[in-house]
Amino acid sequence: MPLSFLNPVINEETSIQELENLLDTARKNYESLRKTEKEFWTFESIITPLFYHLHELQTTFSAYQNIDGVMSSDTSRKIIQIFQPQLVDFYNIMSFDTLMYEICIFIKDNDTLSSEQRRSVELLLEDFINSGVHLAEEEKSELKKINLQLNKISEKFSNNTLDDKKIFFHHCSDNTDISEIAKTDLDTAKQEAKERNLDGWVFTLSPPSYLAIQKECKNQGIRKLFYEKYHSVATSDTHSNKHLVLETLQLREQRAHILGHNNHAEYVFTQRMANTPSEVITKITELNILSKQKAKKELKELKNHFQLSEIFPWDISYYSEILKKEKFHINAKQIRQHFPLEQVIHGLFTIANKLYDITIEATDEKTYHPDVHIYKVFQEEELIAYYVMDIFSRSEKQSGAWCNDIRKRLKKENGEQEVPVVINVGNFGKGDPTLLTHYEVLVLFHEFGHALHVMLSQNTIENTSGFSTEWDFVELPSQCMENWVWEKESLDLFSQHYETKDPLPPELCENLKKTKSFMSGLRIARQSEMTLLDMMFHTRPAPHSIEELENIIKDNKKNFGIFSQEYGMYCSFSHIFAGGYSAGYYSYFWAEFLEAEVFEEFLQNGIFNTETADKYYQNILSQGAKKPGKQLFHDFMGREMNVSAFLKKYEL
Ligand SMILES: [Zn+2]
Repeated sequence: MPLSFLNPVINEETSIQELENLLDTARKNYESLRKTEKEFWTFESIITPLFYHLHELQTTFSAYQNIDGVMSSDTSRKIIQIFQPQLVDFYNIMSFDTLMYEICIFIKDNDTLSSEQRRSVELLLEDFINSGVHLAEEEKSELKKINLQLNKISEKFSNNTLDDKKIFFHHCSDNTDISEIAKTDLDTAKQEAKERNLDGWVFTLSPPSYLAIQKECKNQGIRKLFYEKYHSVATSDTHSNKHLVLETLQLREQRAHILGHNNHAEYVFTQRMANTPSEVITKITELNILSKQKAKKELKELKNHFQLSEIFPWDISYYSEILKKEKFHINAKQIRQHFPLEQVIHGLFTIANKLYDITIEATDEKTYHPDVHIYKVFQEEELIAYYVMDIFSRSEKQSGAWCNDIRKRLKKENGEQEVPVVINVGNFGKGDPTLLTHYEVLVLFHEFGHALHVMLSQNTIENTSGFSTEWDFVELPSQCMENWVWEKESLDLFSQHYETKDPLPPELCENLKKTKSFMSGLRIARQSEMTLLDMMFHTRPAPHSIEELENIIKDNKKNFGIFSQEYGMYCSFSHIFAGGYSAGYYSYFWAEFLEAEVFEEFLQNGIFNTETADKYYQNILSQGAKKPGKQLFHDFMGREMNVSAFLKKYEL
């Protein structure tokens, strides 16, 4: 079976042995590459084999990581925990390797390179420089210390947030306050109560439970309590993240200085599509001003409609939900009946075929779980990728949805191609039949957009595939794909009532589409405020005390907030303190700016217009990371990005 690596035998001893053997081979091959005589320092004799030798190790480890994410067990977790540090060590050695850095510079300056090879070397050099390979030994060891400390802090930040969130819960012994809450959320709350040996219902700060309270709990006092708790997670003495935030900002600034940058934002922007931090700050500030104007109108509408003398942050979701139902007659249950899973997948593949002329065929290959399906993807009868779908929720699966290229595309030394293996993972409830909510359909399209980016990119070198594009560019194909879930022409292809077989009625399509910009002012104002806080944190001089830190937050609130209430939300801002989004929270907006422009082209020419689709395919999807994102976008649009399509989309 060609894809048997997807299903590794999970055994602590043999699995670790297998991985360690691969690492050992990779290490030896790397060592012998370093010994190559200078006269053979060429792309083909150094960089091609470099990727080739790492390929099997990476693919095998990726398959183990996949199993740990979707079929997690104590053993799978242990395998990762034991092996990952060894792998990180090896990568660290490579990233500080002065000789390999010199070799890459030599190749860039002396070898005759194709444009893709040149880009590949440039990307390698960027990584080298950003890790500090060119610095003196003393500075290098300082950097290592800082990186280690930052890793520790980020783990502590994450644990504090989780632990503090867990402390709070709210018990309802009767249903007076929660009678409007949807049945699925009540079932979860009942289960939560049972686990605590309580009758009735228990609500917590975990997102589905918290959102159920904000959207559907009629008791304002309870909503307020939840809002305040949620926004002040990890600010209490027992689990406070305040000092961790302070130390993080200081260390990030120190690292940036050692690497020759003024601040952390400047440092990370060396590998972004956006030109400079100030360009981002300017664009997002404009957006903040416009969205606040719309948000004020939205607040007024809510106040007038529900005759409220004053409106608070904990009232918004609740009243918006009611108004949305009244205005658009959206009946979630009715909509859902039109999205049986099989029909949605069939429609999704049809859309991909209409746009990019690819054919996706089911295989009967078996893998680690009977619910997992493997497809072959063909372009003009040539196999270009394997696509794996693992979308049902299981107790041993991590929450959320994601896309991963378990095996990257590889040109073997004999010239043969190994096609990529891409997986989409989801957590949809399984039913008989499985009916998806419109939001779940959107998630499926989003993740499939990522998969397309990898499957369609015609890279021949590992580090120029779709997933290697800049952080603020990589969400373009996924967010763009979401657009096809709102248009009647495409809804007709994947919506089909599970009994009557009718597509979604036209008036429902119309109303569904209208909900897209409903209350968008409030959402965008809030998100732009957070984005600007991230930018302020990482462009201003690092604070020396908690007081100075909190002054930055107060300033930000005053300049960009809609409400004056501030509880210390930064203490649980995990995206930037425990995730990869520092000075990068803006990338959500950035990808939306980009995709709004791309999709505007489709809207003008027809959402299935083959010329537009081909232009998008030729200039963006098939290119992977063969050119910088900025240039790819320019090739498609014939100009630089602007935000007008985004503003139009959300009626700002
Ligand atoms: Zn995504």
